[in-house]
Amino acid sequence: MTKRVVLIGHPVAHSLSGDMQQAAFDHLGIDARYELWDRPPVELAEAIAELRTEDFLGANLTIPHKERVVPHVDRQTEEAHATGAINTLTKEGRKLVGHNTDVAGFTVALDRLVGKQKMPRTAVVLGAGGGSRAVVLGLIRGGFQRIVVFNRHLHRAESMFKHFGKSAAHMDLRAMPWHESIIEAELAKAKILVNATSIGLVADESPVPAEILTPDLMVLDLIYAQTRLLRDAASAGCKTSDGEQMLLHQGAAAFTLWTGQPAPIDVMHAALVDARAHGVRSAEGEPDGTPVDAAGTAGTTGA
Ligand code: NDP
Repeated sequence: MTKRVVLIGHPVAHSLSGDMQQAAFDHLGIDARYELWDRPPVELAEAIAELRTEDFLGANLTIPHKERVVPHVDRQTEEAHATGAINTLTKEGRKLVGHNTDVAGFTVALDRLVGKQKMPRTAVVLGAGGGSRAVVLGLIRGGFQRIVVFNRHLHRAESMFKHFGKSAAHMDLRAMPWHESIIEAELAKAKILVNATSIGLVADESPVPAEILTPDLMVLDLIYAQTRLLRDAASAGCKTSDGEQMLLHQGAAAFTLWTGQPAPIDVMHAALVDARAHGVRSAEGEPDGTPVDAAGTAGTTGA
């Protein structure tokens, strides 16, 4: 019987995870199908209940469900528990186990961005959703001393900080209101900037004005595209990276959890590159139909 794996999100149309995971199943001859389920929050519980039946191997969760899914699982791994966010589900019989493979994916992406330089100790993170929680845990584990999180709705960043509580007691972890002048002041003290908001996912917008980006910053956008932020940062002389490595490595870890087999990373990467060449501009969101050029630069008009 063909096993099923689903990505539950809202939206999920044209997600790159489908291309990447299906290529891996096919390459290893695993009889499994990766499906995209667009389910608004009100339909999440019903969708999760369906996964308990035998034909499902597991699932991925994306915007906006990573935190909402937590009460629906039977058990969580240490990373899921530590972040309070779940992006992958596996099965133990009818039981559902929640994992967070975004942490591992982010760590690879950060290591690649920093390269041979010494790992910095100060970071600014924009956004406080499910993706941001994986980023912040990755930074805490990476030995960062000061992490400042800005979010449009400050209470969400504050509740994230309450959640991290003791694990961050040794460091300077702050939630701050979204004011341009405060972001600018914090960027002047930071070495790493991570965009974990969905600004730039659908429209060609940046979360921060280009003028506040300085050349010594390293900028990672979780969105898998040459976003306006990344283009502005590159023009300012910053080292930059998009969400490709995070997407690839969180997906590889999920694949291994579902199948018990090492993920065919090269095949998955090729599938991502191919999907991107066909005009998909986001990590897990909508394509705008704009093919990217040879340098990987998306069109500037946005969706
Ligand atoms: P969530 O829905 O959990 O969080 C969305 C975040 O974006 C919140 O901080 C939200 O702020 C902020 N936001 C959205 N719109 C605006 C706006 N107009 N102005 C200011 N802030 C805004 O999503 P995720 O955390 O799951 O995903 C966030 C992004 O990261 C997405 O683009 C996703 O594709 C990407 N991602 C990529 C991954 C990868 O593997 N490359 C992995 C995980 C995420 P507020 O709380 O105030 O609403």
